[in-house]
Amino acid sequence: MRTAVLVALLGLLLSCGGARADNYPSHPITIIVPFAAGGPTDAMARILAERMQNKLGQTILIENVTGAAGSLGVGRVVRAPPDGYTVGIGHLGTHVANGAIYRLGYDLVTDLEPVVLLPSNPMIIVSKNAVPAKTLKELIAWLKARPAPATAGTAGAGSGSHIAGLYFENITGVPLQFVPYRGTAPAMNDLVAGQIDVMIDQTSNSIAQVRAGTIRAYAVTDEKRVASASDIPTTDEAGLSGFHMTLWSGLWVPSGTPKDVVTRLNGAAVDTLNDPAVRMKLENLGLQMTPADRLSPEALGAWQQAEIAKWWPMIRAAHVQVE
Ligand code: ASP
Repeated sequence: MRTAVLVALLGLLLSCGGARADNYPSHPITIIVPFAAGGPTDAMARILAERMQNKLGQTILIENVTGAAGSLGVGRVVRAPPDGYTVGIGHLGTHVANGAIYRLGYDLVTDLEPVVLLPSNPMIIVSKNAVPAKTLKELIAWLKARPAPATAGTAGAGSGSHIAGLYFENITGVPLQFVPYRGTAPAMNDLVAGQIDVMIDQTSNSIAQVRAGTIRAYAVTDEKRVASASDIPTTDEAGLSGFHMTLWSGLWVPSGTPKDVVTRLNGAAVDTLNDPAVRMKLENLGLQMTPADRLSPEALGAWQQAEIAKWWPMIRAAHVQVE
């Protein structure tokens, strides 16, 4: 028993040693992706990690910790040692909406340190090919005429796809039957297979299937068209005026992480985002790059808090139920 305690103490001392920033990073870093592999958050993490690891001189591993709209994966980051070796990626859903929906057991602001605001993704309204509608107006008419609500895939209550779905219900008056998955990658598989009817998805997740003709796109939820998919109309053009939503993402580390470690991670992420090859990959997925003056950790912190102030009252008023 005493030996076990000594071993535990030694482990603690060693892990504290790892928190020293002067030799950081001295071993591999893990990015926790709180959604399924192959989905939009996972894709962004892998594109960034590939380049960030060159900048940091250490391998970056990706671990998908899924469930409860990403809140389990974020919890893993909160509880990790604050040494810069566990980094979390998340978005408007995981780092804002979930705080109004779940009893998280952690505080999204005080238990995490912001690292960098990542590119934003407009949403896209898509359906399985068997839906007869060809335009957004026809889709809304088809949804309204159904005897029972159509099924809409989401990555769980509070995820980006779910918030977008609630917003769609609100603006159209059309009820949807939400079907939660561990990410929009598995939801997409079911949409392509015709198991669910529609999805209001991150453009980056749907774009390849839309291009391949395996699902149908109706509109992107932004004021302007997505440059890499310029044939898809905006919601304003397609007749659903004012339905705008872009899903921003970010990187966080546990609170208490040394400031210079956060600075190193931020620097590596910013260099990566400025890399032309990375930009091209992200833009090709329909992502919009973060403006240069919003790339500091402080900018992400301020933005997250502003988004909490904006969204929590709306989400609470919607009485979102956890499935
Ligand atoms: N970002 C999620 C994912 O990677 C999807 C969502 O938030 O709807 O699957």
